[in-house]
Amino acid sequence: MSDEIHINVGGTLFETKWSTLQRHCDTLLGSLTTTSEYYNNVRKQFFFDRNPELFNTILDFYRNGVIHFPTHICGWNWKQELEFWRIPVTDISECCYPKYIKYEKDQNLVNYIKNAFIVRTAEYQTHKVSCLAGIKQRIWLFLEEPTSSIAAKIFSIFYLLIVLLSAITPILATHPDVRQKVVDLDVLIYWVNLNGLNFWLNKQNPKEVMFVTTEQPKWLEDLDLF
Ligand SMILES: [Zn+2]
Repeated sequence: MSDEIHINVGGTLFETKWSTLQRHCDTLLGSLTTTSEYYNNVRKQFFFDRNPELFNTILDFYRNGVIHFPTHICGWNWKQELEFWRIPVTDISECCYPKYIKYEKDQNLVNYIKNAFIVRTAEYQTHKVSCLAGIKQRIWLFLEEPTSSIAAKIFSIFYLLIVLLSAITPILATHPDVRQKVVDLDVLIYWVNLNGLNFWLNKQNPKEVMFVTTEQPKWLEDLDLF
């Protein structure tokens, strides 16, 4: 039998030697025979429906003895490849191993957080959480999540209106069209002089004149209570 072996990976043909692959006989490629399910007897080649771009790195493992990962490929891809080709993670090169371990650690953290959410949700669904925690959760949802219920939606709209109102009322209170006249300016000055009060007013300043001769209407005062 010739030492050459043809491997079709995702439509790309690779050529290497049996002896190269058999350097790691515990792996999938190292243990291939022509009776394997991956062997195409007509084409005289093996076929794997995998990513050909990653396969070059896999082949380099048989040539060099260690795996080096291209940095632009995600750790998830490498985990899948190593598992499929049955290559132990201990064969990852020293320079690339920290990157792989970081991916594994990140993945463990993500899984831990996901599981924590799943367990928490299951606890709520089966009423395993304490009564107080359940009440706290409901109050929090009511106050912070308008989409959690119709009541929460109504509350959030009401809350928004109050905030808008508290911003608008001081503006309205200073608008001349809204304020109600209390006294004429001439009458006011006459009355001040009559009582000998020490009252100084710049008559040229319409704002000052408005504040001493008008007041905010009753309905605005009521709104201001909010
Ligand atoms: Zn490396």
